[in-house]
Amino acid sequence: MSGAIGLRLCVCIALLLPAFLPAGTTSSILDMTPPISRLALADLRDTFEEVHSGHRHEAIDILEPRRTPVHAVVSGTIRKLFLSNPGGNTIYQFDDVGVYCYYYAHLDGYAEGLREGMRVERGDIIGYVGSTGNADARTPHLHFAIFELGPERLWWKGKAVNPYPGLVDAVKRGN
Ligand SMILES: [Zn+2]
Repeated sequence: MSGAIGLRLCVCIALLLPAFLPAGTTSSILDMTPPISRLALADLRDTFEEVHSGHRHEAIDILEPRRTPVHAVVSGTIRKLFLSNPGGNTIYQFDDVGVYCYYYAHLDGYAEGLREGMRVERGDIIGYVGSTGNADARTPHLHFAIFELGPERLWWKGKAVNPYPGLVDAVKRGN
């Protein structure tokens, strides 16, 4: 009898958790530090809604010289290192609670020793700015996106969230 009640309680908590976390104060976006050192507000432009090569951009581009270090914006786990035609060398990083996925693309390369499943701390160097994938070789940049993961937490599946306001706050906090 008590076993049945215990089981029912577990199911209730499991159902509530995914709905509760994104709305709570645990949002890792609020803890972000800029992916590039010494970033200024003038370096940021909100191009989330722009249409790039037929698709809504749903990301922010930060123009930097090739090989500029890219830092993890939050602490979490390197979920996937993926070479894609449009994105080139990319990193999918999950935050600690698995609510958001942070995506870094067009990288010239990864930080030495970076591997899938590895834990990284906010501020760790994870890669270097480049123009791999469909980026113009003359304008190396970091393509940075944030995805809200569903309850199944699949790295390739998420709802794009505009990173611009979070990046502006991160720069203003002076990190
Ligand atoms: Zn882009």
